[in-house]
Amino acid sequence: MRKPVALILLLLSSAAAQAAEGHSHGVGHLNASLEGDVFSVELELPLESLLGFEREPKSAQDLARVRELATLLRSGDSLLLPSPAAGCALTGVRLASAAIPPELLGEKATPAAAGASEQEHADLDAHYRFKCARPAELKRLEVAFFDTFKRLRVIEARLVTSKVQRAARLTGSSRGLVW
Ligand SMILES: [Zn+2]
Repeated sequence: MRKPVALILLLLSSAAAQAAEGHSHGVGHLNASLEGDVFSVELELPLESLLGFEREPKSAQDLARVRELATLLRSGDSLLLPSPAAGCALTGVRLASAAIPPELLGEKATPAAAGASEQEHADLDAHYRFKCARPAELKRLEVAFFDTFKRLRVIEARLVTSKVQRAARLTGSSRGLVW
């Protein structure tokens, strides 16, 4: 069943990539997938909704806000809450944005990424990887981003496993993706 899941994810991520070019402020996208005991959650969020700006950070104040944001996003297990019964542990976080040098986000510096984007809009991509002791018990993902990031209003969420596909519009008052 690996191939169909991979194909669907490819379709989902290309749809998300299209959305990024003209994103709506306050609206993010989330793609979750479960393969074996690995639960992956990929978020694409307008940088403006996280920082209040979406250009390259230059002032000391901007830089401090970006570092604070990276620290917050790296503590992903307080922002993304899989069903407790599944025993999922966060094993990896990757952060990337066209507007922010990778080292500011706690990633390795890459020469290719050094030039800042001149695009009007910028997203932040956050990839979370969990390893779950009891993946069959994984039935829900609660997304707690709305408490921390008040400018974020909606997350269009999708889930794909070998057995189910779900889509949900998550908001501050409806924050659970359930399957
Ligand atoms: Zn924007």
